[in-house]
Amino acid sequence: MEKIVSLCKRRGFIFQSSEIYGGLNGFWDFGPLGVELKRNLKDFWWRRNVRERDDMVGMDGSIIMNRAVWKASGHEETFSDPMVDCKSCKARHRADQLPEKDGTKYCPNCGSRDLTEPRAFNLMFKSYAGPLESDDNLVYLRPETAQAMFVQFRNVLDTSRQKLPFGIAQIGKAFRNEINPRNYIFRSREFEQMEIEYFCRAEDGLALTDYWLEQRLKFYEDIGIPRDKIHVVDIPDGERAFYSKKTYDLEYEFPFGVSELEGIAYRTDYDLSRHIEASGKPLEYHDQEKNEKFVPHVVEPSAGVDRTTLALLCEAFDEETVTDENGKSEVRTVLRFHPRMAPIKVGIFPLLKNKPELVAKAKEVVAKLRPHMAVSYDEAGAIGRRYRRQDEAGTPFCVTVDFDTVGENGPEKADTVTLRHRDSMQQERVSIDELLPRLAAAIL
Ligand code: ATP
Repeated sequence: MEKIVSLCKRRGFIFQSSEIYGGLNGFWDFGPLGVELKRNLKDFWWRRNVRERDDMVGMDGSIIMNRAVWKASGHEETFSDPMVDCKSCKARHRADQLPEKDGTKYCPNCGSRDLTEPRAFNLMFKSYAGPLESDDNLVYLRPETAQAMFVQFRNVLDTSRQKLPFGIAQIGKAFRNEINPRNYIFRSREFEQMEIEYFCRAEDGLALTDYWLEQRLKFYEDIGIPRDKIHVVDIPDGERAFYSKKTYDLEYEFPFGVSELEGIAYRTDYDLSRHIEASGKPLEYHDQEKNEKFVPHVVEPSAGVDRTTLALLCEAFDEETVTDENGKSEVRTVLRFHPRMAPIKVGIFPLLKNKPELVAKAKEVVAKLRPHMAVSYDEAGAIGRRYRRQDEAGTPFCVTVDFDTVGENGPEKADTVTLRHRDSMQQERVSIDELLPRLAAAIL
């Protein structure tokens, strides 16, 4: 894990938030490569779950909503973690995450067993909407994106003319005042979620939960996280939320342990019913053909952008010893991202930076590819070093423009370049015209 954290900082994937002021526990910034990685993940999720489907529509709700939403959803009353204080060193911990020895829990900071009784700590961040810091103006930063999709159910249904079963998808920031942010970006206080609320008839709820489990596993496979790295936990009776008839947790083998990436919960009609009761508004579904009116049930696949980004980094990270043609060996650090997730798709280099014709030709290739993908132009240093830099960034392809390309060695080699593959380090000669179709197909 330390190696991954250090690479992420060194190469500009992830920085500590407010770093020059000592940081802020539980908050992170994504740098130039990190933001591209995260964007590729969100874009692909959106494409898979919204654009490629007739039965899904998207929305983008506000982060701050009427406090009544959180009263009705139950968050104001129950969205809390059990917190304990260590009486010796005053550190605060989540009671359910304390280490245990001989049946007694102890403080992971100082080892003391002198702990307070657990008490509920509400995880929602508070603020005030308007100039007066009064109870009337109290608002929360949303701890999940889901509620906007429930409270806008009627509007989305009326405007999109969807019929059951159909879903609403949303990607956005969520905030939880976690007692102990930890494991790098795994548990932070500000993070992003990718959530789906898939509305259906009660009789279809269980089967659709299994359907979504399959869809989601396929998704992870398609971004480069194989099925055998994901543990599907069928949460047993008694451990699920009381309203849920089925819940799967999808857990990934992180270096710090197997931990949750996503939850898929069949939440019955709990959420819409609560909002109908609290708001008095008709959020029922009217089936015109059958002339039936009822509250739809819902299946909720809820994934974390940051946790998946971390899983992508962990899955991609590799170090291998390579030997060059002179028999010298070195360690190659490489991020083996699936090409569709890679922050930069192709590095483009002129063989030498002091040859204007090579530079001009390389820039022509850049201009050709840039409208279609993230390109990095690099002319500094030996070619081998430039390849290594791209390996560390996870760039799947590199293109080198040399004297053959500019026609110095005969017309038959003109307008061909070296295409180098990150994983195999194999190189092949391809024509410039072939580049776009080849690369576009690989990153789609
Ligand atoms: P945990 O048990 O790890 O606190 P949770 O079960 O409370 O998570 P959910 O409420 O189901 O999480 O949230 C859905 C998803 O949102 C999680 O699977 C995770 O990917 C993401 N998520 C939740 N809390 C955090 C956090 N503090 N930091 C980063 N991602 C989070």
